[in-house]
Amino acid sequence: MGEPTSSLWLRGGRPWGLDEPGDVLIDGGVITAVGDVDEGAAADVVDVTGRLILPGLVDAHCHLDKTLYGGPWVPHPASDALADRIATERRMRSELGIPDVDRITDLLTAMVSAGATTIRSHVDIAPELGLTGVEAVREAIGRLDGRADVQLVAFPQYGILSAPGTAELLESALVDGVEGVGGIDPAGMDGDPIRHLDIVFDLAERHGAMVDIHLHDGGSLGVWELELICERTRVLGLHGRVAVSHAYALGQATPAEQDRVAERIAEAGVTITTAAVYDFPVAPVKRLRAAGANVACGHDGIRDLWGPYGTGDMLDRAMHLAYRSTFRRDDDIELALEAATHGGAVALGRRPYGEARAPIAVGDPADLVVVRASAPAEAVVTRPTRDLVVKSGRVVARGGVLS
Ligand SMILES: [Zn+2]
Repeated sequence: MGEPTSSLWLRGGRPWGLDEPGDVLIDGGVITAVGDVDEGAAADVVDVTGRLILPGLVDAHCHLDKTLYGGPWVPHPASDALADRIATERRMRSELGIPDVDRITDLLTAMVSAGATTIRSHVDIAPELGLTGVEAVREAIGRLDGRADVQLVAFPQYGILSAPGTAELLESALVDGVEGVGGIDPAGMDGDPIRHLDIVFDLAERHGAMVDIHLHDGGSLGVWELELICERTRVLGLHGRVAVSHAYALGQATPAEQDRVAERIAEAGVTITTAAVYDFPVAPVKRLRAAGANVACGHDGIRDLWGPYGTGDMLDRAMHLAYRSTFRRDDDIELALEAATHGGAVALGRRPYGEARAPIAVGDPADLVVVRASAPAEAVVTRPTRDLVVKSGRVVARGGVLS
């Protein structure tokens, strides 16, 4: 019996990627041992016998600033037309008190309780809004007291060229410490893909920012824009720092075209982030992973003026991705879970791009989720209560409740 050398010891669980039951030892916020652990090595011992240990879940694309989560039910007011959803949001924001720090806190609490240890949130930036969204989300993050790592992206929801003044505000957000800069349909929204991408990539280069571009543009136009983004990423040496969200055009392309573009995406080190929402085309997860391209997953909007759905539970979202991808085999369903864990961490720059490793390995940040399931695929399908959520070695939720 030596002196305690580790702060937390999860005993008797089944870490994803291990064939046999094995313990996980944590010290200083990092996993220091996986498998057999000597008796008496940890200060705090938690018996998780028979339970599955997963990496912390990662929501790589949500919109915390817009949420109405936790408040009174708001009947969805917009029609199905994109232009009407945008107009409705612009009109009703102030009426509904968006952004609302309490609502954002409620949502973050639900997300962490459901195992999200890392989150990327786009935050609307527009002349009529300034940086109010950034301020509100930051206040809510402060209330969570380090229970999740939340990365913000300054997002031009209403365009950059079509909303003059936005580029300057995006820059102000980056100067203010926001980690990422967003873009949206360089052709479809702004009608000038070259100038739009010039602005986004110039900001990224000058401020060392991550890039995450919403790309709903479909067909050959969307594929061309995706290839433009890959080319810029490659030329500017931004490997591992650029994501394209939705990429509906890739989901619409032929299998041969998907394979061709997937290789370019992998070579450039770009992440494709999908939310698998409604009946929109889903990125070809299996083909992208086979090519070595990174895939991440997120909710997109949760309970906001863009749609009434969303729970904040990333196992729920992984199930949607698996279902929409027609994944039935365990190893296929695990690809959706990988997107909701490791793939998301890569998208946020928290892990190296293209690195192949066990889902839970020595040296990883101690972000973990413990559930009652016999296999990762079962966890995705049944979405059991999160018995334990660990962030940087600290237990932050138990039994689906913040602790
Ligand atoms: Zn979005």
